[in-house]
Amino acid sequence: TAAARVRNLTKTYGSGPALVTALDDVSLDLEEGEFTAVMGPSGSGKSTLMHCCAALDTGDSGSVFIGEQDLTTLKDKALTRLRRDEIGFVFQSYNLVPTLTAEENILLPLAIAGRKPDREWYDAVVATVNLGDRLSHKPNELSGGQQQRVAVARALVSRPRIVFADEPTGNLDSRSGAEVLELLRKSATEHGQTIVMVTHDPVAAAWTDRVVFLADGRVVDEIRDPSRDQVLEIM
Ligand code: ADP
Ligand code: ADP
Repeated sequence: TAAARVRNLTKTYGSGPALVTALDDVSLDLEEGEFTAVMGPSGSGKSTLMHCCAALDTGDSGSVFIGEQDLTTLKDKALTRLRRDEIGFVFQSYNLVPTLTAEENILLPLAIAGRKPDREWYDAVVATVNLGDRLSHKPNELSGGQQQRVAVARALVSRPRIVFADEPTGNLDSRSGAEVLELLRKSATEHGQTIVMVTHDPVAAAWTDRVVFLADGRVVDEIRDPSRDQVLEIM
Protein backbone atom coordinates (compact mmCIF):
# COMPACT_ATOMS: atom_id res chain seq x y z
CA THR A 1 0.00 0.00 0.00
CA ALA A 2 1.08 3.58 -0.57
CA ALA A 3 2.19 5.66 2.40
CA ALA A 4 1.78 8.75 0.26
CA ARG A 5 0.27 9.48 -3.13
CA VAL A 6 0.81 12.57 -5.22
CA ARG A 7 -1.77 13.16 -7.93
CA ASN A 8 -1.42 15.71 -10.72
CA LEU A 9 0.32 18.15 -8.43
CA THR A 10 1.09 21.53 -9.96
CA LYS A 11 2.67 24.48 -8.24
CA THR A 12 3.74 27.83 -9.63
CA TYR A 13 5.49 30.82 -8.13
CA GLY A 14 5.02 34.42 -9.21
CA SER A 15 2.95 35.55 -12.17
CA GLY A 16 3.12 37.08 -15.64
CA PRO A 17 6.61 37.05 -17.14
CA ALA A 18 8.03 36.02 -13.72
CA LEU A 19 5.87 32.87 -13.55
CA VAL A 20 7.84 29.77 -12.56
CA THR A 21 6.27 26.32 -12.76
CA ALA A 22 8.01 24.49 -9.91
CA LEU A 23 5.87 21.34 -10.23
CA ASP A 24 4.08 20.46 -13.44
CA ASP A 25 1.40 17.74 -13.12
CA VAL A 26 3.45 15.40 -10.91
CA SER A 27 2.01 12.02 -9.91
CA LEU A 28 3.94 9.63 -7.69
CA ASP A 29 3.30 6.82 -5.21
CA LEU A 30 5.54 6.35 -2.18
CA GLU A 31 5.17 2.80 -0.93
CA GLU A 32 5.21 1.92 2.75
CA GLY A 33 8.69 0.89 3.91
CA GLU A 34 10.31 2.07 0.70
CA PHE A 35 13.41 4.28 0.57
CA THR A 36 13.19 6.65 -2.40
CA ALA A 37 15.72 9.16 -3.72
CA VAL A 38 14.58 12.24 -5.60
CA MET A 39 17.21 13.59 -7.99
CA GLY A 40 17.38 16.27 -10.64
CA PRO A 41 19.12 19.53 -11.47
CA SER A 42 18.93 22.56 -9.19
CA GLY A 43 15.56 24.25 -9.70
CA SER A 44 13.84 21.08 -10.96
CA GLY A 45 11.29 21.12 -8.11
CA LYS A 46 12.74 18.64 -5.60
CA SER A 47 12.41 20.83 -2.51
CA THR A 48 8.97 22.04 -3.53
CA LEU A 49 7.81 18.43 -3.97
CA MET A 50 9.12 17.49 -0.52
CA HIS A 51 7.51 20.51 1.12
CA CYS A 52 4.14 19.78 -0.51
CA CYS A 53 4.28 16.09 0.48
CA ALA A 54 5.15 16.98 4.07
CA ALA A 55 2.26 19.42 4.43
CA LEU A 56 4.67 22.35 4.75
CA ASP A 57 3.42 23.91 1.53
CA THR A 58 0.45 23.48 -0.79
CA GLY A 59 0.14 23.08 -4.54
CA ASP A 60 -2.05 25.16 -6.84
CA SER A 61 -3.89 22.08 -8.09
CA GLY A 62 -3.82 18.32 -7.70
CA SER A 63 -3.66 16.42 -4.42
CA VAL A 64 -1.37 14.80 -1.92
CA PHE A 65 -2.55 11.89 0.21
CA ILE A 66 -0.72 10.79 3.33
CA GLY A 67 -2.25 7.40 3.98
CA GLU A 68 -5.95 7.96 3.40
CA GLN A 69 -5.84 11.65 4.26
CA ASP A 70 -6.09 14.17 1.46
CA LEU A 71 -3.93 17.12 2.55
CA THR A 72 -5.91 19.55 0.40
CA THR A 73 -9.06 18.93 2.45
CA LEU A 74 -7.50 18.94 5.93
CA LYS A 75 -8.00 21.87 8.30
CA ASP A 76 -5.01 23.54 9.99
CA LYS A 77 -5.48 21.58 13.19
CA ALA A 78 -5.46 18.24 11.38
CA LEU A 79 -2.41 19.29 9.33
CA THR A 80 -0.54 20.23 12.51
CA ARG A 81 -1.40 16.88 14.05
CA LEU A 82 -0.31 15.03 10.90
CA ARG A 83 3.03 16.87 10.78
CA ARG A 84 3.57 16.22 14.47
CA ASP A 85 2.57 12.55 14.64
CA GLU A 86 3.30 11.03 11.25
CA ILE A 87 5.91 13.07 9.40
CA GLY A 88 9.62 13.68 9.98
CA PHE A 89 11.47 16.33 8.02
CA VAL A 90 15.18 17.00 7.59
CA PHE A 91 15.51 20.56 6.28
CA GLN A 92 18.30 21.55 3.96
CA SER A 93 19.01 24.45 6.31
CA TYR A 94 18.61 22.13 9.37
CA ASN A 95 16.12 24.47 11.17
CA LEU A 96 17.45 23.65 14.63
CA VAL A 97 16.24 25.65 17.62
CA PRO A 98 19.23 27.89 18.49
CA THR A 99 18.47 28.11 22.22
CA LEU A 100 18.33 24.33 22.73
CA THR A 101 21.21 21.87 22.97
CA ALA A 102 21.70 19.18 20.33
CA GLU A 103 20.12 16.62 22.64
CA GLU A 104 17.12 18.87 23.38
CA ASN A 105 16.69 19.49 19.65
CA ILE A 106 16.70 15.75 18.98
CA LEU A 107 14.11 15.13 21.70
CA LEU A 108 11.92 18.08 20.68
CA PRO A 109 9.43 16.20 18.45
CA LEU A 110 8.81 13.70 21.25
CA ALA A 111 8.48 16.48 23.82
CA ILE A 112 5.94 18.28 21.62
CA ALA A 113 3.97 15.07 21.12
CA GLY A 114 4.16 14.37 24.87
CA ARG A 115 5.85 11.02 24.27
CA LYS A 116 8.81 9.33 25.90
CA PRO A 117 11.67 8.10 23.71
CA ASP A 118 12.06 4.40 23.05
CA ARG A 119 15.43 4.18 24.83
CA GLU A 120 16.89 1.50 22.59
CA TRP A 121 16.04 3.34 19.38
CA TYR A 122 17.08 6.71 20.82
CA ASP A 123 20.46 5.29 21.83
CA ALA A 124 20.92 3.66 18.41
CA VAL A 125 20.06 6.89 16.56
CA VAL A 126 22.27 9.03 18.78
CA ALA A 127 25.16 6.56 18.52
CA THR A 128 24.89 6.57 14.73
CA VAL A 129 24.96 10.34 14.39
CA ASN A 130 28.09 10.23 16.52
CA LEU A 131 27.93 13.57 18.30
CA GLY A 132 29.75 12.47 21.44
CA ASP A 133 30.10 15.33 23.93
CA ARG A 134 28.59 17.72 21.37
CA LEU A 135 25.15 16.56 22.47
CA SER A 136 25.19 19.21 25.18
CA HIS A 137 26.22 21.97 22.74
CA LYS A 138 23.95 24.52 21.08
CA PRO A 139 23.67 24.62 17.26
CA ASN A 140 25.98 27.66 16.89
CA GLU A 141 28.74 25.65 18.58
CA LEU A 142 28.40 22.82 16.05
CA SER A 143 29.84 22.43 12.57
CA GLY A 144 27.50 22.26 9.58
CA GLY A 145 27.93 18.50 9.41
CA GLN A 146 27.16 18.10 13.12
CA GLN A 147 24.04 20.26 12.77
CA GLN A 148 22.99 18.12 9.82
CA ARG A 149 23.37 14.97 11.93
CA VAL A 150 21.28 16.53 14.72
CA ALA A 151 18.58 17.32 12.14
CA VAL A 152 18.60 13.70 10.90
CA ALA A 153 18.41 12.31 14.44
CA ARG A 154 15.56 14.68 15.28
CA ALA A 155 13.54 13.51 12.26
CA LEU A 156 14.04 9.81 13.06
CA VAL A 157 13.84 9.58 16.81
CA SER A 158 10.05 9.62 17.06
CA ARG A 159 9.86 6.99 14.31
CA PRO A 160 7.37 8.84 12.09
CA ARG A 161 5.66 6.78 9.39
CA ILE A 162 7.16 8.94 6.69
CA VAL A 163 10.39 10.91 6.65
CA PHE A 164 11.38 13.55 4.10
CA ALA A 165 15.05 14.46 4.04
CA ASP A 166 16.30 17.31 1.84
CA GLU A 167 19.96 16.49 1.07
CA PRO A 168 20.61 14.88 4.47
CA THR A 169 24.20 14.00 3.60
CA GLY A 170 25.02 17.16 1.61
CA ASN A 171 27.35 18.49 4.28
CA LEU A 172 28.89 15.23 5.48
CA ASP A 173 32.16 13.51 4.65
CA SER A 174 31.73 10.10 3.03
CA ARG A 175 32.07 8.18 6.29
CA SER A 176 29.44 10.06 8.30
CA GLY A 177 27.33 10.27 5.15
CA ALA A 178 27.38 6.47 4.91
CA GLU A 179 26.35 6.19 8.57
CA VAL A 180 23.37 8.48 8.04
CA LEU A 181 22.40 6.53 4.91
CA GLU A 182 22.63 3.27 6.80
CA LEU A 183 20.35 4.69 9.47
CA LEU A 184 17.80 5.79 6.86
CA ARG A 185 18.07 2.37 5.16
CA LYS A 186 17.48 0.65 8.51
CA SER A 187 14.50 2.88 9.29
CA ALA A 188 12.85 1.66 6.09
CA THR A 189 13.87 -1.99 6.17
CA GLU A 190 13.59 -2.74 9.89
CA HIS A 191 10.95 -0.28 11.02
CA GLY A 192 8.85 -0.08 7.85
CA GLN A 193 9.19 3.69 7.65
CA THR A 194 8.78 5.38 4.29
CA ILE A 195 11.87 7.46 3.55
CA VAL A 196 12.18 10.07 0.82
CA MET A 197 15.51 11.79 0.30
CA VAL A 198 16.67 14.50 -2.06
CA THR A 199 20.26 13.94 -3.11
CA HIS A 200 22.76 14.94 -5.76
CA ASP A 201 25.06 12.05 -4.88
CA PRO A 202 24.87 8.82 -6.95
CA VAL A 203 26.54 6.91 -4.11
CA ALA A 204 23.77 8.03 -1.72
CA ALA A 205 21.13 7.17 -4.33
CA ALA A 206 22.50 3.63 -4.59
CA TRP A 207 21.38 3.00 -0.97
CA THR A 208 17.74 3.44 -1.94
CA ASP A 209 15.07 1.19 -3.45
CA ARG A 210 14.15 3.63 -6.15
CA VAL A 211 15.35 6.84 -7.73
CA VAL A 212 12.87 9.31 -9.19
CA PHE A 213 14.33 11.94 -11.52
CA LEU A 214 12.79 15.39 -11.86
CA ALA A 215 13.45 17.94 -14.58
CA ASP A 216 11.56 21.21 -15.01
CA GLY A 217 8.97 20.18 -12.44
CA ARG A 218 8.16 16.84 -14.06
CA VAL A 219 9.02 13.23 -13.29
CA VAL A 220 11.18 12.25 -16.26
CA ASP A 221 12.67 8.92 -15.23
CA GLU A 222 12.76 6.26 -12.55
CA ILE A 223 15.09 3.37 -11.62
CA ARG A 224 14.37 0.49 -9.23
CA ASP A 225 17.19 -1.01 -7.12
CA PRO A 226 19.61 1.55 -8.51
CA SER A 227 23.33 1.08 -8.77
CA ARG A 228 25.67 4.07 -8.68
CA ASP A 229 26.55 3.55 -12.34
CA GLN A 230 22.92 3.41 -13.44
CA VAL A 231 22.26 6.66 -11.59
CA LEU A 232 25.32 8.31 -13.13
CA GLU A 233 24.12 7.34 -16.60
CA ILE A 234 20.81 9.14 -16.16
CA MET A 235 21.81 12.22 -14.15
P1 ADP B 1 18.20 24.00 -3.81
O1 ADP B 1 19.52 23.40 -3.47
O2 ADP B 1 17.04 23.10 -3.52
O3 ADP B 1 18.17 24.58 -5.16
P2 ADP B 1 17.88 26.72 -2.97
O4 ADP B 1 18.97 27.34 -2.17
O5 ADP B 1 17.67 27.04 -4.40
O6 ADP B 1 17.99 25.17 -2.75
O7 ADP B 1 16.48 27.02 -2.25
C1 ADP B 1 16.32 26.98 -0.88
C2 ADP B 1 14.91 27.53 -0.58
O8 ADP B 1 14.83 28.88 -1.04
C3 ADP B 1 13.82 26.79 -1.32
O9 ADP B 1 13.26 25.75 -0.54
C4 ADP B 1 12.80 27.84 -1.68
O10 ADP B 1 11.74 27.90 -0.74
C5 ADP B 1 13.57 29.12 -1.67
N1 ADP B 1 13.78 29.55 -3.06
C6 ADP B 1 14.38 28.87 -4.04
N2 ADP B 1 14.37 29.56 -5.19
C7 ADP B 1 13.76 30.74 -4.90
C8 ADP B 1 13.43 31.89 -5.67
N3 ADP B 1 13.71 31.99 -6.98
N4 ADP B 1 12.82 32.89 -5.05
C9 ADP B 1 12.51 32.82 -3.76
N5 ADP B 1 12.79 31.75 -2.99
C10 ADP B 1 13.39 30.73 -3.54
P1 ADP C 1 15.15 22.17 -6.38
O1 ADP C 1 14.86 21.75 -4.97
O2 ADP C 1 15.09 21.03 -7.36
O3 ADP C 1 16.40 22.97 -6.51
P2 ADP C 1 12.98 24.00 -5.94
O4 ADP C 1 11.78 23.21 -5.61
O5 ADP C 1 13.73 24.67 -4.83
O6 ADP C 1 13.95 23.11 -6.83
O7 ADP C 1 12.58 25.12 -6.98
C1 ADP C 1 11.83 24.84 -8.18
C2 ADP C 1 11.65 26.14 -8.94
O8 ADP C 1 10.79 26.99 -8.19
C3 ADP C 1 12.93 26.93 -9.15
O9 ADP C 1 12.84 27.55 -10.40
C4 ADP C 1 12.93 27.95 -8.03
O10 ADP C 1 13.66 29.09 -8.37
C5 ADP C 1 11.46 28.22 -7.86
N1 ADP C 1 11.10 28.56 -6.49
C6 ADP C 1 11.21 27.76 -5.40
N2 ADP C 1 10.77 28.37 -4.29
C7 ADP C 1 10.38 29.60 -4.70
C8 ADP C 1 9.83 30.72 -4.01
N3 ADP C 1 9.57 30.69 -2.71
N4 ADP C 1 9.54 31.81 -4.75
C9 ADP C 1 9.76 31.85 -6.08
N5 ADP C 1 10.28 30.84 -6.78
C10 ADP C 1 10.58 29.72 -6.09
